[in-house]
Amino acid sequence: MSKALIVGGGIAGLATAIAFDRRGWEVEVLERAPELTAVGAGISLWSNALRALDELGVGERIRERAVEDAAAGIRDARGRWLSRTDTAALRARHGSPVVLHRADLLEILRAAVPESAVRTGISVTEARADGSVLHSAGVSRGDVVVGADGIHSVVRRAVCGVVEPRYSGYTAWRMVVTPTEPLGDLGESWGRGERFGFAALADGRVYCFAAANIPAGAPDGGLPELRRRFRDWHAPIPALLAAADADTVLRNDIYELPPLDTYVSGRLVLVGDAAHAMTPNLGQGACQALEDAVVLARVVATGGDPSAYDAERRPRTRMIADRSARIGTVAQLSNPLLAAVRDAVMRAMPASAQARALAPILDWTPGEPGAIQRPRTGGDVRSHTNT
Ligand SMILES: Cc1cc2nc3c(=O)[nH]c(=O)nc-3n(C[C@H](O)[C@H](O)[C@H](O)COP(=O)(O)OP(=O)(O)OC[C@H]3O[C@@H](n4cnc5c(N)ncnc54)[C@H](O)[C@@H]3O)c2cc1C
Repeated sequence: MSKALIVGGGIAGLATAIAFDRRGWEVEVLERAPELTAVGAGISLWSNALRALDELGVGERIRERAVEDAAAGIRDARGRWLSRTDTAALRARHGSPVVLHRADLLEILRAAVPESAVRTGISVTEARADGSVLHSAGVSRGDVVVGADGIHSVVRRAVCGVVEPRYSGYTAWRMVVTPTEPLGDLGESWGRGERFGFAALADGRVYCFAAANIPAGAPDGGLPELRRRFRDWHAPIPALLAAADADTVLRNDIYELPPLDTYVSGRLVLVGDAAHAMTPNLGQGACQALEDAVVLARVVATGGDPSAYDAERRPRTRMIADRSARIGTVAQLSNPLLAAVRDAVMRAMPASAQARALAPILDWTPGEPGAIQRPRTGGDVRSHTNT
């Protein structure tokens, strides 16, 4: 029996394990952490990801724990609409995105991987082109070695040398809050160099996220800083922050990977953030990891050359990462004049332009090698429940 050896037990690693297991391969997942836990609050999954999850046999379980993402659009800090999402058209054309807690996503993925396949508390130090992996408990081998070990991937070094992640210029906070007043419309609001968004979760709580331009590694002022930054923003933002628990606020400086020359070298293959860590502005990082898993198993487990995976995945993930970065640049504009121009352009942009811009991302289907999409121009100002 052929074996896929997977480094990393996050969303990408677990999804890859499921995909190979379903195709009759032996799988082994090596995870550094002592147990599989989800760091993070909520996560949005778009229709492309839901199709990947259906292909992995867990789509229904995800939908049971998720709620439809009812983001109504983007507002300014005072609550005036900059753009409205045509949710009916989105639903009709692609199916609705959903939001769920990351812990639920991880738990559902973990439950679909054979119990004995996951080895926690094992730190990988080196991957070799012959399919061997050196780690804290010895050596493991696979016919394919999958680097699903995140943005600071060890496996990536063996695939394409040292590649340093680059800082986006902004940091993000995430938290889950029990609301104390009606939420009104859901969605995201953009100020000058700052953003705040919120989305409902299935259990009645609210996933909140915020972003601000600050230097990498700047001291974290935590919840008091967030309350200060957003105190004059429209309702219910100050109330959500008032209800938040300081101990549960997560902060991440947002880094992305520069384009890689390849995702494949010999038996070594990269998936997820190890291959294409992107800014969260489109809410596509994990969605792309799920696509990676499905495509990799389809290509390799049916006897294909891993280079076909690279050819199918690299242009698409690059296109999406580039778009996501551009949206971040626009959303985080801090110059008052530029921000005013941005706001005016957004108010003038029809919802149909946004839908057209999203189509190449959301139209993906699992068995479609033609899913390599070329960027279209225009209509890129679209952000969604994710920072
Ligand atoms: C603020 C924020 C919001 C986001 N929102 C969304 C969203 O709404 N929708 C969306 O689709 N995406 C979103 N993303 C992106 C998404 O979180 C990532 O793309 C996704 O989690 C990547 O999963 P991964 O498994 O590739 O990497 P990771 O989650 O980083 O997992 C890597 C795993 O490998 C393990 N590991 C690392 N090194 C080693 C080693 N040497 N040996 C063994 N194990 C190792 C780690 O412990 C970890 O478990 C967001 C990201 C951020 C920062």
